[in-house]
Amino acid sequence: MVSYKELGLVNTRAMFAKAVKGGYAIPAFNFNNMEQLQAIIKASAETKSPVILQISKGARNYANQTLLRYMAEGAVQYAKELGWRRPQIVLHLDHGDSYELCKNCIQMGFSSVMIDGSSLPYDENVALTKKVVRYAHRYDVTVEAELGVLAGVEDEVSAEESHYTKPEEVIDFVTKTGCDSLAISIGTSHGAYKFKPEQCTRDPKTGKLVPPPLAFDVLKQIEKKLPGFPIVLHGSSSVPQEYVDIINTHGGKLPDAVGIPEEQLRKAAKSAVCKINIDSDSRLAMTAAVRKVFVEKPGEFDPRKYLGPARDEMVKLYKHKIINVLGSDGKAK
Ligand SMILES: [Zn+2]
Repeated sequence: MVSYKELGLVNTRAMFAKAVKGGYAIPAFNFNNMEQLQAIIKASAETKSPVILQISKGARNYANQTLLRYMAEGAVQYAKELGWRRPQIVLHLDHGDSYELCKNCIQMGFSSVMIDGSSLPYDENVALTKKVVRYAHRYDVTVEAELGVLAGVEDEVSAEESHYTKPEEVIDFVTKTGCDSLAISIGTSHGAYKFKPEQCTRDPKTGKLVPPPLAFDVLKQIEKKLPGFPIVLHGSSSVPQEYVDIINTHGGKLPDAVGIPEEQLRKAAKSAVCKINIDSDSRLAMTAAVRKVFVEKPGEFDPRKYLGPARDEMVKLYKHKIINVLGSDGKAK
């Protein structure tokens, strides 16, 4: 058993309480490899923003769970080297799908886990979440749960249709499970194709797809039922058109990729939403930068020469999210 506290990590409790009060949100960025992790830490250290490093089940399978855990430990030291004296870094399991997986991560030094029972019948979701919370709280590890279903595909998580969280269920769920934060469904969605073209309207000037707005009325009702309780938004990439364009003009093919407009996320960050998950945008930034090098310098075969620019692009993206969308800069000095 390794405690996250020995690794210099923190759980989400104080961080979320501060964010809800302060009207901003903490970025939760997924990582699968060294360049992504370096970019996340560099952007967070340079902006002094608290940050949640997320590892999905898919990332564990891809990169090896032990290696990822040690990378996160290294990330704390790297942050200090960059001059961030008291880094506030959470190591979080994204979409944990079983009690055993959550337990395993907690024993390996994760400071926060998500148990996603949202596809289960309500009572089973309550029972599973409660079991994970009971174990996690013994080690002061915080637990994120989910109610409602998000559409889209993310690693092993996928659903055809979204079902908004039912505000009438949230008090009962949070009371019975004792979870520390709640992921809700109000129209965000996993992946780079968050909406089908028929769900969107087209901007007559640009011909680009305009997605339907988030269900802020549902969010408001949930906030009323659970005043001050930390709310989480998954699937909150914006799918920047400039990256999609670079990819498509450099041999890629991402027709009609569409995300959540940043002004909607800015509005959400000011509410009880205190954790916003962003994964696809970093994948797009990385892919755009790599494709550009491959087209412009076909003779290049040193991975540092294309992963380096990809890393620089991700730092730019993460800083933009922290400063201009979530407002978490300067909150972990
Ligand atoms: Zn998710």
